[in-house]
Amino acid sequence: MPERIGFDVGSDTVKAVVVLDDGSVEPQGIVPIKGRPMLRVKEMLADIVRTRGLRRAVCGATGAGASTLREIVGIDAVHEPNALAAALDALYPEVRTVIEMGREAQKYLLFERDPVSGRLLVEDANLGNKCASGSGSFLDHMAARLNYTDIHEFARVALECDNPASLSGRCAVFTESDITHLYQKGTPRDRIAAGVHQAISRNYRSAIARGKEFRDRIAFIGGVSENAAVRKYLAEELGLDGRIFVPEHNRTLGAIGAALRAESEVDLRDAIDLLEEHLRKPLEYPGCEPIGTRAQRTGDTGGDVRPRFRLSTLDSGLSIDRAALGVDIGSVSTKAALVTEIDGEFVVLASYYRRTNGDPLSAVRDTLAQIKKQIDEQGLRIGKITAATTGSGRYLTADYIGAELVRNEISAQASGARAFCNDIDTIFEIGGQDSKYIRLDGDVIIDFEMNKACAAGTGAFLEKQAARLGIPLEEFGDVALRNTRPPDLDWTCTVFSESAMVYYQQNNVPVEDLAAGICLASVKNYLNKNVGNREIGKKIAFQGAVAFNKGMVAAYETVLGREIVVPPYPHITGAVGAARLAYLANPTPPSSAIAKGGNGGVRTFKGFDAIAEAKYEIGSFECKGCPNRCDVNTFQMEGGPKYFYNDRCEKFSAVHKKNLGAHLPDLFAERERMMMEAYQPSHRPPSADHLPRLRIGVPRGLMFSELYPLYNAFLSELGFEVVPSDPTNKHIIEMGLDVAIGEPCFPFKVAHGHYMNLIEKRVDVIFAPRIISTEQPNRNLRQAQTCPYLQAAPDVIASCVGVTERGIRHIAPALHLKRGRKHLERVFAEVGRQLGRSRKQSLAALEVGLKVLEDFRRKVERRGAEVLNTLPPDQVAFIVIGRPYTLWDPALNMDIGKKIQDLGILAIPQDFLPLESVDISDSWPNAYSRQIQKKLMAARLIRQDSRLRAVVVTYFACGPDSFGNPFFKVERRAP
Ligand code: SF4
Ligand code: SF4
Repeated sequence: MPERIGFDVGSDTVKAVVVLDDGSVEPQGIVPIKGRPMLRVKEMLADIVRTRGLRRAVCGATGAGASTLREIVGIDAVHEPNALAAALDALYPEVRTVIEMGREAQKYLLFERDPVSGRLLVEDANLGNKCASGSGSFLDHMAARLNYTDIHEFARVALECDNPASLSGRCAVFTESDITHLYQKGTPRDRIAAGVHQAISRNYRSAIARGKEFRDRIAFIGGVSENAAVRKYLAEELGLDGRIFVPEHNRTLGAIGAALRAESEVDLRDAIDLLEEHLRKPLEYPGCEPIGTRAQRTGDTGGDVRPRFRLSTLDSGLSIDRAALGVDIGSVSTKAALVTEIDGEFVVLASYYRRTNGDPLSAVRDTLAQIKKQIDEQGLRIGKITAATTGSGRYLTADYIGAELVRNEISAQASGARAFCNDIDTIFEIGGQDSKYIRLDGDVIIDFEMNKACAAGTGAFLEKQAARLGIPLEEFGDVALRNTRPPDLDWTCTVFSESAMVYYQQNNVPVEDLAAGICLASVKNYLNKNVGNREIGKKIAFQGAVAFNKGMVAAYETVLGREIVVPPYPHITGAVGAARLAYLANPTPPSSAIAKGGNGGVRTFKGFDAIAEAKYEIGSFECKGCPNRCDVNTFQMEGGPKYFYNDRCEKFSAVHKKNLGAHLPDLFAERERMMMEAYQPSHRPPSADHLPRLRIGVPRGLMFSELYPLYNAFLSELGFEVVPSDPTNKHIIEMGLDVAIGEPCFPFKVAHGHYMNLIEKRVDVIFAPRIISTEQPNRNLRQAQTCPYLQAAPDVIASCVGVTERGIRHIAPALHLKRGRKHLERVFAEVGRQLGRSRKQSLAALEVGLKVLEDFRRKVERRGAEVLNTLPPDQVAFIVIGRPYTLWDPALNMDIGKKIQDLGILAIPQDFLPLESVDISDSWPNAYSRQIQKKLMAARLIRQDSRLRAVVVTYFACGPDSFGNPFFKVERRAP
């Protein structure tokens, strides 16, 4: 048998092996692609020829670049599962299941031996969902983010920690944002490290392995299989303890299989020549207009941003009465700036930027030490310093340094832009993990948007692509500016952009053009997803560290055809802005309140020396006070009070809070009480004596909060015990996320958890009508439909969680409430019949149910009128707009009502407004969804009442809201 050569050309590395006559395998290395996959193959092939003296060999290739290689040199391209089957057959014939986790992909494969051919064949497979959260590159990225020296150290720490922090494993973006919040609140790094490893194992279970069979023996392959912590958590999550093994050739099985399955013998020198020829010839593809800065195109290096700070312009030893410190603590970087006002202009006295490295408090301490050093070096004498914090770690940092002010990133960035240039009216800000669009009218923010879950427009995406192309990040912009014909990469999602780039990379497109293509994709992603139809003003500032990247500036200017202003120090605009806000506010707390401190309470800046010297402790514990089981983080300075974070109900942190809303009525809680108590049995249910008292479960979520009084009264009147599922808690959410199939909206996933909760409660029956339409009191509006998810929810969820398979009856009649009384009588009589009740009994119970529902609704309306009538003309109230399952579920709306009231502002849920008094049919006659109609009614009422402001609660992945929310803005006539 001639010697065989196998390649596995992935998106990140090329792996090569030689398989000898006797079947033994000689690995030839695993080489990073660095933007030139075919060059790497050629180099590896040349090495093999040189070291082994081979002229001809049977060659096969698998992986993303296999087909390109086949086209160039005619070697066999082997589909990855077939390559694996061949390798296993030869080396591990007893293996039936393969779990693969590589740098970029996760896979599951189940094999069975074909009795006819005797070969291993693929019986079942899941070749990945393109989500990065289970991949090796994500682990590497996280290790770097959390400042571990390398992936081995990261894995070791994770393995040793037995209390992993709870992280979302469903998506890389969500996992990363959970991590940001955890460590900004002081969660120990080892717990986060363990949480990341557990999360990627959970991601594998839910995204790849759901419903799959794990037949012995189970081989775990790919680079991640070398990570002992992933092995541990994966075995736990999949229940495979002791059954997983990592084979010797865990990273090269694909290449081995490609070599074994290949049939074509190739002249190796010819192959090298053909590869060289290919490398000389660029790919023909439709390119975009090359990117270039306005200065490059016009020769005008103008731009009229006056940097208002030059440390050198200040006199050494200057005495300054008052200055303000801004600290911007982000997930990737920590920034600080000290500003003062001189002759009516803000001047930055000192500034510093560094990586957060997963340890926000150390980063803040070091940053402030650097600021102090700069002050000392200039010999500045400063009378009074006030401080403000911003960024994702702003609360913890405020407690640490004693900041008088805590401001969100939008306010800080806007203020930062105004510090640099007075007539900026639009801000594009791109940070490490997020991006923002802000529209200003003078100092007033009139519109803003933050990136949702897409990372494509952020610095992290650029950083990752720079690494993939082997370009140092600092040089990325200059490389991109040398472009001549950038490819038009898909901008809709990072994953698609990356796949497109891999294609062009595999086909020899120059890195300059790839770099420019990435900048263009990033800019288009940002403009489409963050800015959308929003207005872009006359003067745009590009802020955030990404603005240093000249390629990005050029891409913006090329796409928009106009100049973009980059402030002189775009990476610290948030810190400068926070400092400016602190300076302008000039808070002077009463001395008695100074010692109190606390989250949102009154604090004063502790001073550089005190912060540098202070000892502090951070810790965490799990609160077992309710099923939410919050991971509560603690922070305490030596001799100071203990601060708490992450306690959902604020059981611990409330001690430090100024309860500004204590005097305001909690309308959310009031309505919940009214709903649960709406039905009060006035008599003994008629048929309870002679029939078994069935326990009928009613799942919360979706339309529960609209119709529960009807269901409760109807079923109770018929003599059944009504068991609602528990209010949404962490356990219910986790169960829902675990069992839901596909990627529907979050409320729909959580609804699955409510079914699981009822199953845990061992109910006999689950009663969950499918709401096709709601009532329509306005004759001018023809439709009153619900979302298709709602219409299908009971059937989909019941089949997904296996209600009937568990011996529970499922009653899910279709309810067209719009059709009126006759329809309801027919449906509820049928429900009664299924439960063994007569038509007469059912109709009597329905009568009571409808009366209870009507009374409940009128009561809410009356309370709403009372609240609005007593709201003084000069007082503002926030109307919370949402769908029933978001509005009334504090776990789904992040307790928005309480958060608003904590600011001392009354929060009024939309249903407390007299919505039916508004006829929106003049503008929206065809609005088909009742929920959208209600939103529009609320928008009009808010527009007409100067006391009211709107807060709209919506969900990523909600189709109806994606077009309904813009209608809201149109009706509201305000951003
Ligand atoms: S919600 Fe409150 S009581 Fe429940 S676990 Fe969290 S902190 Fe404890
Ligand atoms: S309307 Fe939106 S949030 Fe509601 S069920 Fe449909 S997709 Fe989900």
